[in-house]
Parts: sequence; structure tokens; C-alpha cells
Amino acid sequence: MHAAVVCWGIGEAWKVEEIQVEPPKASEVRVKMLYASLCHTDILISKGHPIPLFPRVLGHEGVGVVESIGEEGGDIKEGDMVIPTFVSECQECENCVSGKTNMCLKYPLSFTGLMPDGTSRMSAKGQKLHHVFSCSTWSEYMVVNVNYLVKLPPTMITSGSFPLPHASFLSCGFSTGFGAPWKEAKLEKGSTVAVIGLGAVGLGVCIYLAYMFFLLGQLVLLASYLINIL
Ligand SMILES: [Zn+2]
Ligand SMILES: [Zn+2]
Repeated sequence: MHAAVVCWGIGEAWKVEEIQVEPPKASEVRVKMLYASLCHTDILISKGHPIPLFPRVLGHEGVGVVESIGEEGGDIKEGDMVIPTFVSECQECENCVSGKTNMCLKYPLSFTGLMPDGTSRMSAKGQKLHHVFSCSTWSEYMVVNVNYLVKLPPTMITSGSFPLPHASFLSCGFSTGFGAPWKEAKLEKGSTVAVIGLGAVGLGVCIYLAYMFFLLGQLVLLASYLINIL
């Protein structure tokens, strides 16, 4: 039995529960979670958006170490440090090779809250538990399809240049912000930029700007608004 944060229904208080996490099947990996962080989407999901699937183990940002692997685990090994991702890349489908989007057709964003085979590896009090997209990081252990994991380079960890608690934000917030000006807005040198909100997403935008264009001095508006959409 392992502890996890469970939401049992729309708008219900989150509860720490003892849950069962089954061993991984083929193409799956069981991960011992080390760090996790909170994204606003976790709050939305506990309120039933976009699809009310309950009971549900929350959390979709995190860092963990691979504890066990199914027989088709690919190049993931026991002891690897990994972060979950929600859209994978087969690198072969029409979208993956387009260079315009990474919305992979083979490994898309999952809205079922279940493993790709339609089942769950988590249960509590006799009930099947749902994921947030492809994973549930607010759990001592989680099972993820191997295609929805990114392995962290060991040298970055051993060198100390990549603190694992900070790596948790790579799962969603930071990457969302970093990718927005790069892949969506397609900013060019000299672009005028307004960053609204300086959470993990907004800071990801700023770091992209600083890293790619050294533009921080040219930002004409850098404002943080608390956007309350609850
Ligand atoms: Zn693909
Ligand atoms: Zn998120």
C-alpha cells in the first residue's frame, strides 16, 4: 500500500489515502516519486474539468526513479531518473515529422485517465483510480506507459547542475511557457512581448526570451496579474 492524494468527486476535498499500485505490464514502468509540484490544472481537474473522472489521483508534474519495468520497457532501466510527459513523440507520424507540431497521432494527450489499454494500475477501497492525463505524480508510486516518460541525463544529475526538485516543473509549467514563444508565437528578434503572470509558465517564457534572444532589456511590458479563474 502506498500513500497518494485522491479526489473522490467534483469539488471534494483532497484526501491522502492508502492505495494499491500494481506492477507494470508490458510497455509500462513503475516509478517511485521523489518530487512533485502543483499546477493549476490539478485544481481544474479536481473540479471536473475538462472531463469529470473520479476517483482520481492528482498531480502531473514530478520527478521519480524507475523502480520496475515491464518486459517491453525499451531503453528505460531500473534506477533511471524520469519525468512524465503528457504528449509523447513517436517521431514517425505525420505530425511528428512535420516540424510544426508535436501533437503526436500515435501517443496523443490522454483524456481517459487510464492506461492506453483502458485499464488502471491504481485502486483504493475496491475502486479503480484515474490518472491526470498519463500519470499521477502525487503518489508514492505510479505506473506510466514507457512512451510517456522522459529520461533525465545522468550527467546533469551527478554534476549537480540540475536540481531534481526544480526538474519537476519541466513536466508541465516550465515547458509550457518555454514552448509558447518558441513553437506557438514564433517570436523573432525585436518582437515586443507581454508576459502576463510570472508563475512557472510565465518564467518559462522569460527564460526562453533571455536564452534565445537576450531580449529581456527590450521587454516593454512585464506584468504579473493574478488571474483567478476558479
Ligand atoms: Zn508521432
Ligand atoms: Zn500542468
